[in-house]
Amino acid sequence: MFENLRKGIRDILDRFGRKGLLTKSDIEEGLSEFKKVLISADVNLKVVKEILKRVEEEALKEEILKSVLPEEQITKIVYDILLKIIGKGAPLKFSSIPPTEILLFGIQGSGKTTTAGKLSYFLKNRGYRSLLVPLDLKRPGAIKQLEEIANMVDTPFYFEENLTPLKLIKRAKEIAKKERIEFIIYDTPGRIHIDQEMMKELKDIKEEAKPTESLLVASSLLGQGSVDIALEFKRMVGLTGIIATMLDGDSKGGAILSMRYVTSVPIKFVGVGEKIGDLEEFDEESLVLRILGQPDIKGLIKKIETIKEEKKEVSKKEKFNLETFLNQIESIEKMGGFSSLMGYFPMISDSMKFDEKNIKRMKAIIQSMTKKERLHPDIIDGDRKKRIAKGSGTSINDVNTLLKNYKLMKSMLENKNIDKILKRGGIFWVQTIIRFLM
Ligand code: GDP
Ligand code: MG
Repeated sequence: MFENLRKGIRDILDRFGRKGLLTKSDIEEGLSEFKKVLISADVNLKVVKEILKRVEEEALKEEILKSVLPEEQITKIVYDILLKIIGKGAPLKFSSIPPTEILLFGIQGSGKTTTAGKLSYFLKNRGYRSLLVPLDLKRPGAIKQLEEIANMVDTPFYFEENLTPLKLIKRAKEIAKKERIEFIIYDTPGRIHIDQEMMKELKDIKEEAKPTESLLVASSLLGQGSVDIALEFKRMVGLTGIIATMLDGDSKGGAILSMRYVTSVPIKFVGVGEKIGDLEEFDEESLVLRILGQPDIKGLIKKIETIKEEKKEVSKKEKFNLETFLNQIESIEKMGGFSSLMGYFPMISDSMKFDEKNIKRMKAIIQSMTKKERLHPDIIDGDRKKRIAKGSGTSINDVNTLLKNYKLMKSMLENKNIDKILKRGGIFWVQTIIRFLM
């Protein structure tokens, strides 16, 4: 599901991840890559423009440019925007007087008949019975197909030869009332090409059924095509919702991303396979998470909040030395340790073998120094090194490595605005320490 889209987006986010601070041109470059990814995923052009506009607005805000966590922050921005674009799902509406009638529209092959069965199975699992009624009378196979599905789900089925669709609807209403069946699901005729005659027939059917729900069954495999079809059905017969089918085979994702934004019709269910149980209530959040391939966004949001708190606590006057470095390590440990935070950097943890032991060793070495040595590491000579190595149970080599890396880190940090960097707290240090010391 959405493999292409996910891979494209992840590649861009990973590239952000390899940068320290984001510049305006980084963001512009990222946006132009993002545009290509969305277009090749068959996302509607209007939607592409809207997504890019919103990401740009958010990403160019001052605080993001100076941000600690480019990939994380951009991930969060993209997550929020996709959520808005995909739009909220809507639950199935019930009629105040039973039965609740549902018309399923859609072109041939979109999954209508299968979805009628899935929907009745979904309702059955919630304690409701539904009467399945075929109205696609021109194709005898279609009637039999629905009957077989009804038998399989063990749900009532109604059909009589030589009745018009409108008569069938009348009779179905009577049967459902008499037998206290809560739902009627009508499988309507749908051809490959939408024409006036078919739309007229569907309008008459709708007029007669006066359904609570008019749902379009749309195959997401058609990408932009299914969005156009939805617009057409909305205009010609009116829709209360969409069921997007075949999401399991949709490597692009263009239809599901564009559908709601372009048509303003909510997606109510998604079909995710051929089996009778493969119908899910539409949940925009889980969908966006699938697209981003980023399962723990809630944890990430919480972490970002914690970091913002931590940032406030770091004094402006602090200078970077081994004492402040030790403080950073300790505050990271308070937040759950490096290993737990590493989970937020899949691109780093994949490419580097991270060993918590290195951090412990670094800490031990710094802890074996006097306060004066931590504040002014330049005074650490051979004798002091020997003493520190002994005290921390490490070697002079280890002490030298730490001091060398510390100098590297310090010179990097001093090229930037040290006060601002020190204000950043936790995650920045995880990144810096891992990049410099591992
Ligand atoms: P209709 O012409 O609109 O009534 O479409 P059908 O219900 O006959 O479905 C056409 C084909 O699509 C059938 O082979 C179904 O099994 C298949 N199908 C329907 N929904 C899904 C889905 O969500 N995923 C997959 N993989 N196949 C589906
Ligand atoms: Mg059918």
